[in-house]
Amino acid sequence: MATAKGFLNPHNDPEILDYRKAEEYLKEYETRDGLSVYELMDTRKHGGLTYNDFLLLPGYIGFPASAVTLDSPITKKITLKTPFVSSPMDTVTEHEMAIHMALQGGLGVIHHNCTPEAQADMVRKVKRYENGFILDPVVISPTTTVGETKALKEKWGFGGFPVTETGKLGSKLLGIVTNRDIQFEEDLDKPVSEVMVTDLITAPAGVTLKEANKILAQSKKGKLPIVDAEGNLVSMISRSDLTKNLHFPLASKKPDSKQLLCAAAIGTRPADKDRLALLVEAGLDIVVLDSSQGNSIYQIEMIKWIKETYPHLEVIGGNVVTREQAAALIAAGVDGLRIGMGSGSACITQEVMAVGRPQATAVFQVSTFAARFGVPCIADGGIQNVGHIVKGLALGASTVMMGGLLAGTTESPGTSFVSREGKLVKAYRGMGSIDAMQDKKAAGGGKDAQKSNAGTARYFSEGDSVLVAQGVSGAVAHRGSVTKFVPYLIAGLKHSMQDCGITSLTELHQKVADGTVRFELRTASAQLEGGVNMESYEKKLYA
Ligand code: IMP
Repeated sequence: MATAKGFLNPHNDPEILDYRKAEEYLKEYETRDGLSVYELMDTRKHGGLTYNDFLLLPGYIGFPASAVTLDSPITKKITLKTPFVSSPMDTVTEHEMAIHMALQGGLGVIHHNCTPEAQADMVRKVKRYENGFILDPVVISPTTTVGETKALKEKWGFGGFPVTETGKLGSKLLGIVTNRDIQFEEDLDKPVSEVMVTDLITAPAGVTLKEANKILAQSKKGKLPIVDAEGNLVSMISRSDLTKNLHFPLASKKPDSKQLLCAAAIGTRPADKDRLALLVEAGLDIVVLDSSQGNSIYQIEMIKWIKETYPHLEVIGGNVVTREQAAALIAAGVDGLRIGMGSGSACITQEVMAVGRPQATAVFQVSTFAARFGVPCIADGGIQNVGHIVKGLALGASTVMMGGLLAGTTESPGTSFVSREGKLVKAYRGMGSIDAMQDKKAAGGGKDAQKSNAGTARYFSEGDSVLVAQGVSGAVAHRGSVTKFVPYLIAGLKHSMQDCGITSLTELHQKVADGTVRFELRTASAQLEGGVNMESYEKKLYA
């Protein structure tokens, strides 16, 4: 094919090329437009990069955004349908957040700035939330009072307790107490035997889940107790679980289980081994070792101990930002890594410690290294919008972890309030903020409760006479429910991947690695240009 001489004024060029050969010509004679990820991430040339420092170049769209799939591993053995994880922070993830993140196909990591018992209770709530057969229902006895039953409802967040002779599973079923039976009952000392429903529809032990669901759907009841030949309670299914199953097709569950996946964070102190025992007993699937600098003897020993003691438990180590840190934790046996130091929105680590790494570079360096050993990585911190999510994933992370972005949702702990500026906000604080490190309800209640909690443990500050903050506390804008916000993140991510011509996260990783997906550095003025340039506007992100 003839090559073109010039390109500035094609109208005057006598050797203008055949337009139908444009693509062929491009492949044969031009260098690829944009940069490969390796050229982009040449730290000697460009220094460390943040998510804002670059863009992805568009590819070819030959499919609808709905065709994009987002399945991605969070650990060696566990894959999520949505690559979103909520941070183990006391203003972000308790059971409510963990339940709703899992229902949307992601995962919540329950924080440990509370007693081990309180954390285990939260894990239990997540694991009990959606079941096929509820194998360990909360059972009461005929002498349990209305007041005690109301307290149980408060504690577990659901009503509808089977009543058996002994108040235990495996004993004769006598009735069921539902919300309706106790809601307006003022005599709190009345035994439930006087208010319970005794006209029961049950199913026999051995019934299949499909059959049991059918019986439940036909009955007008909320719960279907399963009983053996002697009428002893063996398990139960719940109508609300049926509806939940219908509405959350992406929900994160193990293939052989109907229970939601649950993750929780712990520290690396000896006492954390006792904490972990309670969490495992409550049904924990994934433990996250929560440290701002994960490459420590404490974490390495903890990883080895957990893998020996609980071989089925998946362990995520971190945080790391260099390949050397990652190598140490991979060698110790981690099933996943968490990447980020100093990029969090409530974080002042880089300012105070002068240690850390710009997040885009950290994600690229660690994920590409960890991929060789089959260890999936979480890009943790600094995610402020959908674009940052796409970039973290394009640089090799399998999932992203968010704190500030989710702290303003209805499902985070605490209630929203009106700020001094008249805006609806929710509290958000770094776990290394003085506030979080001094939280007295933390630390498992021991005598060191004020000096040793999740915050001080994460930042190696236990017992220090002066607490050095690595985070701040404040507030973030209220964002509404995760049930709307996460679907927005999912839809945004799918559209972005469509722009790049990519149909799955596996394909994204492959095509970034082989140089098909291209990147470009963004100058400071390019960043300004990419923002809104108007006198006044309202930023509404989704509808
Ligand atoms: P964000 O999504 O940008 O708000 O970042 C959340 C992440 O910041 C968390 O998952 C932690 O890795 C990190 N982080 C939490 N608290 C602190 C802190 O006090 N200092 C530094 N980093 C923190």
